[in-house]
Amino acid sequence: MAYQLSEKLKKMVSYEPISGDYAIRLDANESFLPVDEEIKAEFTQKLSEIPFNRYPDPLAAEVCRKFADYYGINADFVTAGNGSDELISVIIGAFLSEGDKLLTVMPDFSMYGFYADLTGVTVLTQEKDENLNIDVDAVIQTVQREKVNCVMFSNPCNPTGQGLPREEVRRLITSVDCLVVLDEAYMDFYTESLLTEAEQYDNLIILRTCSKALGLAAVRLGFAVANPTLTTVLRAAKSPYNVNSVTQAYGSVVLSHKEKEQAALAQILASREELYGALVGMQEKYHCFERVYPTVTNFVLVETSRAKELLRN
Ligand code: PMP
Repeated sequence: MAYQLSEKLKKMVSYEPISGDYAIRLDANESFLPVDEEIKAEFTQKLSEIPFNRYPDPLAAEVCRKFADYYGINADFVTAGNGSDELISVIIGAFLSEGDKLLTVMPDFSMYGFYADLTGVTVLTQEKDENLNIDVDAVIQTVQREKVNCVMFSNPCNPTGQGLPREEVRRLITSVDCLVVLDEAYMDFYTESLLTEAEQYDNLIILRTCSKALGLAAVRLGFAVANPTLTTVLRAAKSPYNVNSVTQAYGSVVLSHKEKEQAALAQILASREELYGALVGMQEKYHCFERVYPTVTNFVLVETSRAKELLRN
């Protein structure tokens, strides 16, 4: 008897981002800024002190504390991940079972549905409105009607660049009984975070990443913030040494330099304004796009029927 892949596994393909040597990769939403020299020197020193023959700290305590200090929250509510991608996978694996229902509000980050599919979780999708905003009432109704087990969405959203006001997010969380996973990957660029109140909710996990505003995409570092009950599950469900020592060291250094990171953030926002202004200018002059969406992230969504052609050129 030969081993046979299931039909689900036969259809799987590896994640293939657009590759190539571009100064700015407009699709990856990374930071374009080089590493600060002082940070580089501090990291080099810290790197030389890592005991490479030892496993990393399983709870990544130092970097969790630095993250907590940076954002003014309690480190007891923080779990570190190998990028927030890993945390999405851990949450789906731990909190949902085969046959459970995950609600996503499309368009949104593709990995929510990907990990759910893999786990045999049923993915329900609801469309955003004509301006690509989340209709909170519609989400609440769907959760109740379909007995959804978890709602997962990004705020601000990738790929739309739109943000939901804090009050609306609170209304969603408090109107449903299910788990709400609020992915704040781009919240450094916006103002409506719920990070400081995460522990007040019994059904909320907030995800943050260091890959965007903090410019750490290469080392893979993300965090989940939730009340102690949910945090206990997250820490128990993740693989023991999920964040390697190099990442823990680099993250600790970067998160110790809030002023530098705030200055970098201002530069990214200025550059985003420049890009947005130029795209709107092109649109007004040449009518070359269908729509240029306003943004509260570090990227701009442009609607065009010529997307493939523009990518090739
Ligand atoms: N959430 C959203 C909304 C994202 O856009 C991304 C990265 N593209 C992630 C999570 C994953 O980030 P990380 O690099 O921390 O895995």
